Amino acid sequence: MVDLHSHTNESDGTCSPAELLYEAKRAGVRALAITDHDTFVGYDFARRLAGENVELIELICGIEISAKLDSQTVHLLGYFLDGEAPLSFREWVLELKASRRDRNRRLAARLQSLGLDISLEEAEQRGRGMTGRPHFAQILKEKGYVASVQQAFDEYLGESAKGYVDRDEPQIFDAIARIRDGGGIASLAHPVRIKGNIETILHELCRRGLNAMEVYHSDHTAAQTNAFLNLSRIHGLLVTGGSDYHGATKPGIELGKGYGNLNIPPDLLERLRTAGQG
Ligand code: AMP
Ligand code: ZN
Ligand code: FE
Ligand code: FE
Repeated sequence: MVDLHSHTNESDGTCSPAELLYEAKRAGVRALAITDHDTFVGYDFARRLAGENVELIELICGIEISAKLDSQTVHLLGYFLDGEAPLSFREWVLELKASRRDRNRRLAARLQSLGLDISLEEAEQRGRGMTGRPHFAQILKEKGYVASVQQAFDEYLGESAKGYVDRDEPQIFDAIARIRDGGGIASLAHPVRIKGNIETILHELCRRGLNAMEVYHSDHTAAQTNAFLNLSRIHGLLVTGGSDYHGATKPGIELGKGYGNLNIPPDLLERLRTAGQG
């Protein structure tokens, strides 16, 4: 099995890089891409471990970038199949981290101004380098301000909620260009979540360098998978796929299998490699 979408606890997953490798091996995954949100830290840890046990699993260098498409935030996957993202790309990723920290500082202040007892330090204790709204949500729940993480988003943290503060996210066209300039494959993640006319959006994204789409994803029904496969053919896009495994953060999702019937084609990675050479 192949799984090109997974998260460690260096972003919002619950497995350490070592645990993720172990779980993937146990699940029968032979090639795994770690695609943490806006960071390579988890991949870099796993690389060192996988490097010592090459026969263990084939590890692929990936990342999931949050980027703005008009007013919506979309996710873009970047894959560096020859093993490493170049330094220039890594430097850009570190800039994203700084903008997230700035947002978190303003978010904590905003929540405090709404009368909630919550600090940046508390959130960062949980999220470390990739502290995000889910960590704030968890704290609000534990302190009894809300009954669930979802309620925390509905009332305070979601895009139309009263505690929301904007983050300076990169434009998707910039993110695509950075990935492609770095020699990577730029794949539109879980297209089912995109709002608006997908045909029009794909047309524009392809024009700006998008070269792949995540056809296989745990959130896609069989019918949606087929529809996206069709769209990938129409737009000449490469096909990627993965479970979007987050460990306990998203219960029910298994590595390689998603909710059970992900059915990622076994030759998916070979196809991507061949396309890269051609
Ligand atoms: P951040 O990157 O810190 O802005 O947090 C984004 C994450 O928060 C997403 O990956 C989701 O897991 C979660 N999230 C964002 N909006 C919502 C929402 N309306 N309801 C539940 N979870 C959300
Ligand atoms: Zn995630
Ligand atoms: Fe995503
Ligand atoms: Fe993801």
